[in-house]
Amino acid sequence: MNTKEGKKPGTAAGKGNDTMESLISLCKRRGFIFQGSEIYGGLAGTWDYGPLGVALKNNIKKIWWKRFVDDRDDMYAVDAALLMNPRTWEASGHVAGFADPLVEDIKTKKRYRADHLLESAGIDVKGMSLSDMNAKIKEKGIKSPDGNAIGDVRQFNMMFKTNIGATEDATSISYLRPETAQGMFVNFKNILDTFHPKLPFGMAQIGKAFRNEIAPRDFLFRAREFEQMEIEYFVNPKDWEKTFDHFRDEMKAFTRDVGLTQNKVYELEIAEADRAFYSKRTIDFEFEWPFGRKELYGLAYRTDYDLKQHSEFSKVDLSYFDEEKKERFIPHCIEPSFGLDRTVLAVLTDAYQEDTMKDEDGKEEKRVFLKLAPSVAPYRVAVFPLLKNKPVLVEKAKEIYDMIKKDFNSRNLGAVTFDDNGNIGKRYRRQDEIGTPYCVTVDFDTIEKGTGVTVRDRDSGKQERIKIEELIAYLSK
Ligand code: ATP
Repeated sequence: MNTKEGKKPGTAAGKGNDTMESLISLCKRRGFIFQGSEIYGGLAGTWDYGPLGVALKNNIKKIWWKRFVDDRDDMYAVDAALLMNPRTWEASGHVAGFADPLVEDIKTKKRYRADHLLESAGIDVKGMSLSDMNAKIKEKGIKSPDGNAIGDVRQFNMMFKTNIGATEDATSISYLRPETAQGMFVNFKNILDTFHPKLPFGMAQIGKAFRNEIAPRDFLFRAREFEQMEIEYFVNPKDWEKTFDHFRDEMKAFTRDVGLTQNKVYELEIAEADRAFYSKRTIDFEFEWPFGRKELYGLAYRTDYDLKQHSEFSKVDLSYFDEEKKERFIPHCIEPSFGLDRTVLAVLTDAYQEDTMKDEDGKEEKRVFLKLAPSVAPYRVAVFPLLKNKPVLVEKAKEIYDMIKKDFNSRNLGAVTFDDNGNIGKRYRRQDEIGTPYCVTVDFDTIEKGTGVTVRDRDSGKQERIKIEELIAYLSK
């Protein structure tokens, strides 16, 4: 749950804002990500993924699933319903406590996160209660971003309420899940009863979560609808430390898998006063975003809090029996929690580059490119005929495209695209902008001299001639 305190305030430097604006516009222009419900003026905190965004996001999901589920023997996948019995959220503590501190601009009635206003005034909000925040706001004369006075700080529950069925009364209230985690705790017994796993073991899930964020902002970073990739890993309490360390390493390794620059990823040990009350240890993985250093992922030791609460509220026994030791107890839980959209954003902001490069006529030209790791790039290879109107080149390029595609699909190496629009320079720029690592061009020498094709490297712009027999090995290296 919320571990918002203990963060350094965002440094919304001018350069950072420029990068975000350029990235958001690239994402729209090239079909990665669009504003949600755009033709109606949008809906704050929602984003729609287009074809390239879907491809990037799916690649990230696949990498996560491989590392945390397929490559292991101790992980059980679930895909739980988004709507859950409302008792779930009473047991988890969300009905009573899943809240952010809210203040209202007295004049415009716009609402803001009190902690964010304090942080942007350079005040450390670590461990502050609501009344501490109220006192600080008065003492420092903090105003809304529009320069108006603000009202008292109050708690605002971030769960989206809805009604189930045809009647709308107190008994029909339910919530859209604000995290995927509880869908795993409520299925703990199902996994025990159907698979009889021995401790330690985990449950893993990727799915949507909804939070009525007071101030959605920074593109995908703080949205109202987003996806999480979460694990609840159950252990004997005596083993929690080594499991915690193991997942700490695995989370770091995942940031490498998706190609994040390692010195932009930080670990922040959350002090006891700032942790959720049930957590004995929490580490936030932070990332150096263009708008400052903030949370990317969280890793928490949640003790036996969740299973105990659900046992108590559901009256169903969620204990585990250790056959060897003849011991019955409630397992403890380590929770590595990843935001999928935050991963997409981290990967995109990290990859966004501008430089200058000579065009086909030798003229220096400004270029924008995404330096994406091949493992996440929407396309790993683009294949072109040098000229669109020469059937002999088009035919050969299609043949090579089919060959690479067939091989890459069979080995799950990533997508391949064919492009014959515009001139070659434009195609390079287009592929650079969407982060395609390699462009393969079929020219007259390919056909007349049999000297192979040219392969252009996205980052350096260098071209090499590669024999067709060696092409697949070269591109998959
Ligand atoms: P924050 O402090 O940034 O609000 P949190 O501590 O509330 O995050 P958790 O409840 O730990 O976040 O959720 C787990 C992960 O889900 C986060 O590490 C983040 O990657 C992602 N996440 C949380 N809230 C959002 C959001 N509003 N939009 C996008 N991703 C989110």
